[in-house]
Amino acid sequence: MNPQTPILAGNWKMNKTPAEAAAFFAAFCAAHAARTDRSIWFFPPAISFASAREALRDRPDILLGVQNIHWERAGAFTGETSAPMAAAAGARLALVGHSERRHVFGETDAETGRKVAAAVAAQLLAVLCVGETLEQRRAGGLADVLERQLDAGLADIAGDLTPSLVLAYEPVWAIGTGVTATPADAAEAHELLHDRMVRRFGDASSAVPILYGGSVNPDNAPALLSARHVDGLLVGGASLDPAVFARIAAASPD
Ligand code: PEP
Repeated sequence: MNPQTPILAGNWKMNKTPAEAAAFFAAFCAAHAARTDRSIWFFPPAISFASAREALRDRPDILLGVQNIHWERAGAFTGETSAPMAAAAGARLALVGHSERRHVFGETDAETGRKVAAAVAAQLLAVLCVGETLEQRRAGGLADVLERQLDAGLADIAGDLTPSLVLAYEPVWAIGTGVTATPADAAEAHELLHDRMVRRFGDASSAVPILYGGSVNPDNAPALLSARHVDGLLVGGASLDPAVFARIAAASPD
């Protein structure tokens, strides 16, 4: 059992129109009453953010974030959203370095560092995602990949990280594949991240929550939440159905 209350977060990726977002929250809010023993977060696509916010106006217990930000505040960056814009629209969180950003859109480690810094400067909680590919894992590169992505993601921020940062361990081979890391796999990776944070930033960084993501569903959520240093879950596909995600949102460690 981990000391913090768990964080259960849904990343909708490029799914749900504004109307679909409103319908989702009508159903989800009916199924999930506010609870003080957990935090519930959603990352809707930017185009549906305002609709999601409106649908949650009476649910301050549920926080919203954006799936990606640009590191500049404003300018000629067609298609991008800045961190101050996201904050002004009501976002409290920003995903940075999701594996699809890294592997589909070619986002670099250095860019994740700039994005984390931009999020923190805009007073968003940065959710830095890290994780290895299957090839890297098979080659014994787990620790090296996680340390490199962590160090680069945090290279541009200084001071006490704990209020501004959440980590998410998302093995690339488990995202959207139906293959889940075992609780032991998750615990091994989370321990590496935890220990690296403490070595670099001191004991206070133990308080930075570390989420697990990768084919989480209502059946595997309790065991994953029981794994050491797993402080919550970041859920893609299973966050799209309100009844399914309500079961994950209600999950407790085994
Ligand atoms: C994700 O998108 O962060 C994710 C973990 O996806 P899935 O749950 O579908 O594997």
